[in-house]
Amino acid sequence: MNTVSRDAKIAVVGAGFAGLAAAATLIKAGFQNVKILEAKERVGGRVCTTKPFTENIIELGANWIHGQDGNPLYQLAKEQDLLVETIAVSKIMCLPHSVTPRDYFFMEGGKQLSTDRVDPVCSLFSKLTSKAFESELEDKHRALSLGDYLDVSFAESPLATSEDGTKIFEWCKRSECTDEAASSLYEVSASQIGYYIALEGGFFNSLGPGGYQAILDIVLKALPSGTILNNTAVKIIQWDLKASSQGDKDEEEDHAVQVICENDHIFDADHVIVTVSLGVLKQHARTMFEPALPKSKLDAIERLGFGTVDKIFLCFSERFWPEDCAGIQLVWDEGPEDKAVYSSEDEEDAWKKTWFKKICGFDTVAHHPTVLCGWITGREALHMETLEDSEVGDTCVRLLRSFTGWSVPDVSQVLISRWGHDPHVQGSYTFVPQWVNGVKEHEALAAPLPSCSQVSKSKPLQVLFAGEATHVNFYTTTHGAYLSGLREAERLINHYSD
Ligand SMILES: Cc1cc2nc3c(=O)[nH]c(=O)nc-3n(C[C@H](O)[C@H](O)[C@H](O)COP(=O)(O)OP(=O)(O)OC[C@H]3O[C@@H](n4cnc5c(N)ncnc54)[C@H](O)[C@@H]3O)c2cc1C
Repeated sequence: MNTVSRDAKIAVVGAGFAGLAAAATLIKAGFQNVKILEAKERVGGRVCTTKPFTENIIELGANWIHGQDGNPLYQLAKEQDLLVETIAVSKIMCLPHSVTPRDYFFMEGGKQLSTDRVDPVCSLFSKLTSKAFESELEDKHRALSLGDYLDVSFAESPLATSEDGTKIFEWCKRSECTDEAASSLYEVSASQIGYYIALEGGFFNSLGPGGYQAILDIVLKALPSGTILNNTAVKIIQWDLKASSQGDKDEEEDHAVQVICENDHIFDADHVIVTVSLGVLKQHARTMFEPALPKSKLDAIERLGFGTVDKIFLCFSERFWPEDCAGIQLVWDEGPEDKAVYSSEDEEDAWKKTWFKKICGFDTVAHHPTVLCGWITGREALHMETLEDSEVGDTCVRLLRSFTGWSVPDVSQVLISRWGHDPHVQGSYTFVPQWVNGVKEHEALAAPLPSCSQVSKSKPLQVLFAGEATHVNFYTTTHGAYLSGLREAERLINHYSD
């Protein structure tokens, strides 16, 4: 590598998987002036491994490695011996077909549903969603939202004639909202999810006692100390700065980019790799860049969806559920995912009073025999985030008592994620809304600046974009984030090796 490239100044904004992967790859390639500017006190972004209850970990953010073949994080974890042999039962990004017989389903009135009732509906739901994921939708369904496609397809099944069948189907839809990070499946495009690629090897939840933090630690080892500047939120990225007119300055001292931080630190750079979440871009993209981002990028930021998924951990003094129970699933009579309820205009904020109806159930948690984890999505999750932990905990206990009829003790500790109100994330992950061309928008988001048409007049590759939302096929995932960081690092490496 020549001196010019070794000395190129590169600022990476954000220390999630995308930013860490980008920085580690550049440093490995010989770049010596790489800094990561991270707003938070900690690294990891949407990966947040904690130990709130015992010495065992709880993942407030990402938990599963999705797929094995072609998944660099699975590979890394395997090489470093971070995997243990366990079988996962999960909700996130997990289709309801993975519901095992050990999930206990209860109706609102307290009736327990047998697996004979639940399984056929869940299998049909899984078959229908698989058709969408595998791009096998019939033409008549292609323009529909995922919710509408599922409704019309389910209506053709004899299972739709039973009241319980319909309610279980609504449960499946609510559960699928955790995969899509959407308030409702009526917001999500049915045809576009065919571009999401689920890697072979299924869900992998066998990270050892260090959880996701252990994978982060491997990537962090590749960074010289002082590479990451925490508590350094970037406020403004000025780009396309013209070369200094002072004749006595070396050309190399003229940097095309200047990064201004909230703490008044200023970094000159030749390149900046922006890895902040789509939620942060939605909130700040119009003020964060000078000159403003091109219309194609602003459109992509607006058009792609970024929804909220939250976890509610309930720690009890003792286990009150049977030992073979992997989860307590709540089948509501009527819920937010029913189209009529979702689109009701009777009372604009009526759904806030029944926010808890969006909770699809409570799963048991590995290595925590007395802990349950509830899932909630969308606008109801955002509303829940505004409530006190104790109010959320009490509400959940009330639900568990009324649905199961079991003797449920008061909860001893409650831990809630608040991804929607986290100022440095502003949601959980990306989805493609109905009427949006996902491939086009992910690509527009990933395109470096200046754009091809401007390159002849300006220095190339001044502002690059990575992060899960910029990946056409693996958006929403940790490996999508990681690969997007590699992609942008390699873009710069190739640039300097040309
Ligand atoms: C509840 C939940 C569950 C999930 N479950 C899974 C799962 O099981 N499996 C899976 O593969 N994926 C899962 N995901 C998604 C996965 O966590 C993300 O796709 C991935 O971690 C995103 O990485 P990233 O680097 O793109 O973004 P981030 O992790 O969001 O990193 C961006 C970084 O930028 C920083 N930042 C923001 N603004 C600024 C600023 N102005 N200046 C400086 N820094 C800034 C942030 O603090 C953050 O550290 C889950 C996410 C959530 C929220």
